[in-house]
Order: sequence, then structure tokens, then C-alpha cells
Amino acid sequence: MEKLYIGVDLGGTNIAAGIVDLNGNIYCKKSVRTNLPKPEAELEQDIYNLCKSLCEENGYDISNDIISVGIGSPGSVDGKRGIVWSNVNFGYENWRIKENLEKLFGISVYVENDANAAIIAEVMAGNAKGCDNALIVTLGTGVGGGAFLNGQIYAGYNYAGLEVGHIVIEKDGRLCNCGRKGCFERYASASALTRDTQAAMNAHPESLLWKLCPDIEKANAKIAFDAMEKGDKVATEVVNTYIEYLACGLVNLINIFQPEVVCLGGGVSNQQQALLDLLQPLIDKEDFARNARERTKIVIAKFRNDAGIIGAAMVGVNND
Ligand SMILES: [Zn+2]
Repeated sequence: MEKLYIGVDLGGTNIAAGIVDLNGNIYCKKSVRTNLPKPEAELEQDIYNLCKSLCEENGYDISNDIISVGIGSPGSVDGKRGIVWSNVNFGYENWRIKENLEKLFGISVYVENDANAAIIAEVMAGNAKGCDNALIVTLGTGVGGGAFLNGQIYAGYNYAGLEVGHIVIEKDGRLCNCGRKGCFERYASASALTRDTQAAMNAHPESLLWKLCPDIEKANAKIAFDAMEKGDKVATEVVNTYIEYLACGLVNLINIFQPEVVCLGGGVSNQQQALLDLLQPLIDKEDFARNARERTKIVIAKFRNDAGIIGAAMVGVNND
């Protein structure tokens, strides 16, 4: 029988769990509201109950059919010891999630930071499969990052490494939530692209952007790409500026790590090849190793909507 794992995407709003195989296929999934705040023990019980009902409803038995449970959690996570050190969403400190959940589940439980889980998934079964050195950069609400270096997750001291969204790419630039100015995520996140699109709409009532999106409040990270494709000058400028900032941050990371592959995830990566086609010429101009025989490849992350569940499950596969 196929080897099966449970992946749990533990978020501040929802907990989603799925049964996943070695190739990252999801067999079934289920989610519940997280309903914070609540004590640790209650949340642990919720996670267990969700997984138990997921299995029961789909004819699986946790102790016989599932190899391990992987949890992807935001925050600073010590994957080796299975401790979530700090997490703003939950408000817990030093949460011994692995130990506590193993008592409930009766099988191995692993935990990893969600961005680290995402790169594990890409390396185990996705578009960085088999790589010893790969990065993921997610372009969503913020800009997140995970690194798989020399065959293992790089967590950093304090498990707070790879906060790639907070490298400065514009000195004295836009103020960031972290307190610095000019952070990568203030320019390259999906939220930044949305804000820049809205600003361009306000400045240019003639832009096609208004035809595609009459309600400016509903603007998203996609419409500038759509309007650019239709030849709109204003949108083209928004996208080109966005790509320049994105390329700047990515080249910084490539020059530090020289990974085999950089996977792009998050909302903006839904643009797929169109995004890569715009990025590559700028990377080609600036990558320090641009003349090397083997170059870092920029690709779109394979795992999309269910990346959180699959990544978490793959943390278990990686530890097997
Ligand atoms: Zn910042």
C-alpha cells in the first residue's frame, strides 16, 4: 500500500489537514477554524480531533495507515526538538508541540516553520526535486523565505534565519512593520504590488486598469499583469518597477547562497511563465555568476493552493 502521511497547516485563522503521499498528492483534506486565543492543550486536542475525523471519514486508521504527522507552523520553530519557540498568532512560548501531540497520536509527529516546510516539499517532490541547495521565496502578504542548504534546512540561530522579506533593497525607503526602512517585502510582496497598482490608478484615471477593476478597493496583484498584457502603459510601468525590485532582492539572495534552484511561491507566482520571462533578463544582467556554466534556475513552486498541507506532510517524509 502507498505510504501515507498527514500534513497539518497550522494557521492563525484555520487549521487544515490532509492525507498526502510521497509524491505530494493529496488524497483528502479537511479544515476547521483555529478560534484563538485558547490554551495550548485545547489547540493540540483540536489538531488531533481534526486529523482523527479526517482519517475516519475517509476510511483510514491513524496507527495502521499513517506513517507520521507533520505540522507546518508560523513563527520560530526548532524542528529537531519539535518546539515552537515563539509565535505571535498563538501567543505561546516554548510550545512542546511534538512531545504533546505524539502522546495524543501515538505515532511520530514533526514540526517545522511553514516556509521551511514549503522548501522541503519542493526538494522532496516539487520543482527543486533532488537539489541539495535550493531556496523558496514566497510573494504573498509579505515576502517569506526558506532555505535547504547542503541537504538540510537552514534555520539559523534562534530559528529566525531567512527572513528574506526584511533585507533592505532601498536605503531609507518605505517604512516596514519590522521597523526598518526599504525592506524587500515593502516592494516585492503581493500586497506591495496591489498598493502600487492602486496608486497608479489614482494618478491615471485613463488607465485600462479602471476597466479591468472599476472598484479600486478590489485591486489585487493580478490586474497590473492583465492590463500590461493588453498593452496598458501605466500597468506596464507598475509591473516593470515591481520586477526591478523583485530582481534586486532575488539577486542578493542568489549571490549569497548560489542555490541550484530558487522556487517562487505566493500569490504573485500565479503569473507563472509571464513572471519568469520578465525576471530572467534582469537576473542575467546582475547575477554574479552569470557567466558560469551552471546557473541558478528561477522556477515557479510546484505546490500551490495546498502547499501548506503538502509541505507539512513532507517534513515527516524528510525525517523518515
Ligand atoms: Zn522589514
